[in-house]
Amino acid sequence: MSAFVDNIMTDVKNVNQAEPEFHQAVQEVVESLEPVIERHPEYKEAKILERIIEPERVIMFRVPWVDNAGVVQVNRGFRVEFNSAIGPYKGGLRFHPSVNLGILKFLGFEQIFKNSLTTLPMGGGKGGSDFDPHGKTDDEVMRFCQSFMSELFRHIGPNTDVPAGDIGVGGREIGFMFGQYKKLQNAFEGILTGKGLGWGGSLIRPEATGYGCVYFAEEMLKTQKKSFDGLRVAVSGSGNVAQYATQKVNQLGGKVITMSDSSGYIIDQNGISGERWDYIMDLKNVRRGRIQEYAEKFGCEYHKGAGVWNTKVDVALPCATQNELQIDDAKALIKNGCFCVSEGANMPTTPEAVDFFLENKTLFGPGKAANAGGVATSGLEMSQNSMRLSWTREEVDEKLHRIMREIHTAAITAADKYGSPGNYVKGANIAGFLKVANAMMDQGIV
Ligand code: NDP
Repeated sequence: MSAFVDNIMTDVKNVNQAEPEFHQAVQEVVESLEPVIERHPEYKEAKILERIIEPERVIMFRVPWVDNAGVVQVNRGFRVEFNSAIGPYKGGLRFHPSVNLGILKFLGFEQIFKNSLTTLPMGGGKGGSDFDPHGKTDDEVMRFCQSFMSELFRHIGPNTDVPAGDIGVGGREIGFMFGQYKKLQNAFEGILTGKGLGWGGSLIRPEATGYGCVYFAEEMLKTQKKSFDGLRVAVSGSGNVAQYATQKVNQLGGKVITMSDSSGYIIDQNGISGERWDYIMDLKNVRRGRIQEYAEKFGCEYHKGAGVWNTKVDVALPCATQNELQIDDAKALIKNGCFCVSEGANMPTTPEAVDFFLENKTLFGPGKAANAGGVATSGLEMSQNSMRLSWTREEVDEKLHRIMREIHTAAITAADKYGSPGNYVKGANIAGFLKVANAMMDQGIV
């Protein structure tokens, strides 16, 4: 670690104790930005890095609700409003027992650069709760969402902060929260994205993160004159991002062999497409069951626990959660011939595994760039809400596709310009940072 990075990280660790995921996210960005700060002493003087690392505002609140047995439950709610230099705070809400302030700060920090890369006017934020929707009835989820929004509503607004979904927050949860916001504010306005199609949602928003991740991988493959046609693909997770990444791979002629959930993973050499993909959609979005049931239905392999990366594939799409792809997984993938990794999830690959991929000249698309399609399409949903009109499926998909191509170009160009050709990690961090840093310079010390 250079003295520059070391100094910043010592301060970050002192001030933000017991937040390892936040430290990890900051360190990766700071390492990438070293050559930028060297060329731009004005950023150093204005303490842009020190300011960007500190959230503008953090809100923490109690979320009390009553379960079906009449027992009072108490969860903790959060919203981290990280940076509004280029637009209203924008980023998802995560409902998962692992949620804590450090996790949301890592996600909110990443979101700043990702949103900047989309070219749309969106600042960075993230929020959520340690509530676990698994095993809860729809009524319980509704009561929780109403209680959560009973506090959050006073902090958000169409020009202030516009949350979206993330792990554990899909169309059902967005609907319940939107209903409660509307009741409290007596206003029908675009304060959440990922809404239902009949009440302000955008076509392609559910598909956007998964499609975007595959579009980004497609651009990386093109640099080596390759395409998805005939490639074998491993996907982790079986939630929103994983489902639509799988669909897009199928459309482009690839074959998804594996998917997973937090209990285990399946290997289906026939490919998860057609009625098999339909089955996953019903299993995960309607019946809310476990992936093991897929193996029982179609007679393929099922393994408990992690291990989805130990398969012979050409492309890996980690689409579940942070730090799910570790150094041994990276080694197994490379040994099995994998040459392209595109992150659908946020920070799914550990720093050692990222380094290993880069050393082995793997095409590696970091989440900040590769999964930006979700928030980009959220930005398109905001535009449609403001204009009170709806674009067609083709129009939104075309805009999403163009944005993903532009992000790819921006990342590769910045990587080249700052001395790390082909390194999408550095390129995405630098390209995302410059726009936010310049806006902060223009707006003075605030
Ligand atoms: P979902 O809740 O729809 O799905 C998450 C999937 O990951 C599920 O299959 C879940 O399994 C699995 N998973 C979650 N936590 C763990 C864990 N600790 N270990 C193993 N598996 C786990 O979430 P999304 O698909 O929306 O999000 C997935 C990732 O993509 C996250 O990192 C998110 O931040 C990122 N992302 C999402 C965007 C979006 O638009 N939705 C946008 C950009 C990034 P199980 O059901 O068993 O819990």
